Amino acid sequence: MYIRKEIRAFMEKMPKEMKMPKHWRKFVNENDVEYNLLIKHGKECECTNCGKYFYSEQVEGNGCWDICPFCGGQYDVRRSNLKNYFFLYDLAVVDNVDNKLVLRYFEVKRIYNQDKKRFDDNVVEYARVVPELDIELVNDRFFKYMATERVYHTKKIRKWRVFNGMYGLGQYYKSIYLENIDEKTKGTNFQYAPIVDAIMYLGNHKLDFLKVLEKAKYASFELLMKMGLYKLATKYPEKFNEKGSFEKRFGISKDYYKFMKNHNIDYDELTILKITKRVNIAIIRDILKMSDDDIEDLEVASRYIDLIKLREYSKKQKNFSLVNYLDYIRNLQKLDIPLTKRMLLPDDLTKAHDESVKKVKVINSNVIKEKIKQRYKELEKNRYNDNVYIIRPAKNLKDIKDESVQQDNCVYKNYSDKYAFGETDIYFMREANNPKKSLVTVEVNKGRIRQKYQKRNHEVTKEQSQFLDSWEKKVLNAA
Ligand SMILES: [Zn+2]
Repeated sequence: MYIRKEIRAFMEKMPKEMKMPKHWRKFVNENDVEYNLLIKHGKECECTNCGKYFYSEQVEGNGCWDICPFCGGQYDVRRSNLKNYFFLYDLAVVDNVDNKLVLRYFEVKRIYNQDKKRFDDNVVEYARVVPELDIELVNDRFFKYMATERVYHTKKIRKWRVFNGMYGLGQYYKSIYLENIDEKTKGTNFQYAPIVDAIMYLGNHKLDFLKVLEKAKYASFELLMKMGLYKLATKYPEKFNEKGSFEKRFGISKDYYKFMKNHNIDYDELTILKITKRVNIAIIRDILKMSDDDIEDLEVASRYIDLIKLREYSKKQKNFSLVNYLDYIRNLQKLDIPLTKRMLLPDDLTKAHDESVKKVKVINSNVIKEKIKQRYKELEKNRYNDNVYIIRPAKNLKDIKDESVQQDNCVYKNYSDKYAFGETDIYFMREANNPKKSLVTVEVNKGRIRQKYQKRNHEVTKEQSQFLDSWEKKVLNAA
């Protein structure tokens, strides 16, 4: 296998064995605490954590626990003849090799010692991750077969190699040693990144440290953290990397900074703030709700109507749907109807929408027909079913028309051309034992279900929704 020169050079410089940080043992001990047992002899329990004895009625067994009244630990109760028992868990350490940040992985094997009635730790290093080179290294101790990862504790490190497993390392660890992070990030890409602050903000439990590093590599990460814009820093620093004035970076005047900071604004909220310039977080969040968090639809709508006005309007409409609203506007444009205030805010949107659908004509050309057949071929791979339902893409123009007639909806008039030209994807979900009868019309945009309606735009049932969710997850967003 070919290994990049840069990686080879790095591996030559990397020591086989490396020192452990100063308070490593203390760190392991702290993490050990939850991995203990209560050893029962008669009615007396001995706590392997604090070594004290107490009386317990609890029976012995897996998941039969009691609480030690001395150290407060909650542990399983086991018989005193227990043998060959151990716990496994992982820890990580941040290190520095040749000015590159290295994340080192250790497996702690906590083995029960029957004579002492205590646990002994055996801690071995088995993997190293170098985010700046985008590599995972493992040594002789590491073994992976299918999805099973194992670490051999008795082996010595002879050699490190690049791990090329299909799904990468599991990389689960209980916690990561951060005491020396400032020292270890020196000289790396992460030198000035307030990583620890970000970790504190996100919460250290089950945190994906590499994901934090992924964000911390942007210069804007440091700035955003310091500005107290934590959500933007930890999720979208790449969108604010433009150097220069506040306005250049955020697309909005500095006058709004205080508001942004006070509400720890997120990316979608900032987008709405930029459009509306309204410093009211409740209204901003309410506008986002109107679109089911589809920020693009809101951006499109804002080209025609003030979003604050649209929000007020939506409250007066029965079952307002932004997607329907955009369909309606598109129809007005197709029909060359001027977008006056009265047309933009009709008294009854559903009625106005349905009327516009009736007037719009579908271009019934051979080009459109052919394109739709092509689309069907492209999307057929997303066909899916369980015992009850099936879902498949729209086959041809006639198929779409038929769905529209059965469902009394606008899919034929408003979506045939969008589907033909690949702007959106149209699927029909039906009962497996009655596949000719329409049930739910589904629109998918960029791998996400945008609309799902039964006849006459009625909401889907819980079962139908569950089926669609698993389709979205297993098929549309399959890795
Ligand atoms: Zn105890």
